[in-house]
Amino acid sequence: MARYRDALCRLCRRESEKMFLKGDRCYTDKCAVEKRKYAPGQHGQKRKKLSDYALQLREKQKAKETYGVLESQFKRYFYLAEKKKGVTGSKLLQLLELRLDNVVYRLGFTANRRQARQLVLHGHFTVNNKRVSIPSCLVKPGDVIGLKEASAKLNVIEENLSKIEHRGLPSWVEMDISNLKGKILHAPERDEIELPVQEQLIVELYSK
Ligand code: SF4
Repeated sequence: MARYRDALCRLCRRESEKMFLKGDRCYTDKCAVEKRKYAPGQHGQKRKKLSDYALQLREKQKAKETYGVLESQFKRYFYLAEKKKGVTGSKLLQLLELRLDNVVYRLGFTANRRQARQLVLHGHFTVNNKRVSIPSCLVKPGDVIGLKEASAKLNVIEENLSKIEHRGLPSWVEMDISNLKGKILHAPERDEIELPVQEQLIVELYSK
């Protein structure tokens, strides 16, 4: 499957926003957005007035890159969100949050969503005690996400879980570190999703 392989920090610099794509480095002063507050490339330092379309496009790109999904997949989430009752933009973010790779990241098993995606693909996680290796699998309230017994000794997981108190957990999940299991308490509402994105602009973009 196609995948973005260039430097991740360029994506954040393009949006002038920290998207926390790397993990620990994002919380230090080595963060590229902190060091260079302008877009990458030869013309990155030029001031540009963005059109309405460009603003909508940038918000969509920001959301897409934060969750690490491709355009076609992102559009599919939008159409799914449109069919749900409620505010389409919030439903879109809710769907993205409920992806298994995102939940694994939110529960503190991994340092970022990329790492979560890779570990899910390698079959280290279970949903309701069944092995699931599809990062885009949508989980629902009540589901229990666990680590396979054989994977409990992975250094990377141990290291990430040791930082869980410092990182904190979102209010819509709970974590039982001793049993290496996390539970979805409810689907996240917009105010429980920490994401500096104006989702209404994404809705406007796709509604043209
Ligand atoms: Fe983005 Fe993290 Fe790189 Fe900062 S360190 S630019 S937040 S990926």
